[in-house]
Amino acid sequence: MAVKPDFKHIWGPNEVIELDRSVREFGSDQIPGEIRADVLVPARGYLRARVVEPGEVIRVLNVFGKQVMDVLLYDADNIQNCASMSNTILANGTSKLSVGSGIYAKNGQQLVTLVDDTAGIIALDGGYCSDAVNELRWGVEGSPNCRGNLVLSMQRYGLTEDDLQEGCFTVFLALGHDEHGNVVLDPSPSKPGDYVEFRAERRLIVSASACPSDRSVTNNHNPSPMKVFIYRPQSTETA
Ligand SMILES: [Zn+2]
Repeated sequence: MAVKPDFKHIWGPNEVIELDRSVREFGSDQIPGEIRADVLVPARGYLRARVVEPGEVIRVLNVFGKQVMDVLLYDADNIQNCASMSNTILANGTSKLSVGSGIYAKNGQQLVTLVDDTAGIIALDGGYCSDAVNELRWGVEGSPNCRGNLVLSMQRYGLTEDDLQEGCFTVFLALGHDEHGNVVLDPSPSKPGDYVEFRAERRLIVSASACPSDRSVTNNHNPSPMKVFIYRPQSTETA
């Protein structure tokens, strides 16, 4: 696989295309089941939202490490009923998601169960970077952001920017608080090949953004591609 250039490297157009080509097959031979979707999400890009059937598994795979991804889930039967991080924290009794924990919808239904997590870092703050937040934090306008990505991701289901609700979780994001309640944000410690897996507990729609932020430390100032797989596990094929 091609080596990802370091921060401050100026990407040439062909170099980006070659990088995408080199990661397209990454992880595809490691999926324990029937693959329904094998998607390369380019650096700063998004997953086109798509339906996941009950029992299917969503795997988010970190290709180069140090990259975070915002994931927003919707009840496929009621697109207004998206994931709620406050319900998720209350239902689990903790703000730390661990294997076996659920992600819950606004109306209380369990959307998914976390079934595998090699990095152990999922932030449940429910927010995403946006043009407005980036301007507040960095004094720039018009910067690529997760909110814009999530809107584009959900365009095929008719959602607009005004329809987009908070309620995402962020895989591989090292977001915490110190003893005074101050937000502590570190570069993602995720490594190449780290992944998280969620099993769908009902018919849902998954939407995701490879966080494009290069000013925040979240992606170590060097946004990179991600892979997203949706597959039907072998064990349920014969069930
Ligand atoms: Zn972001």
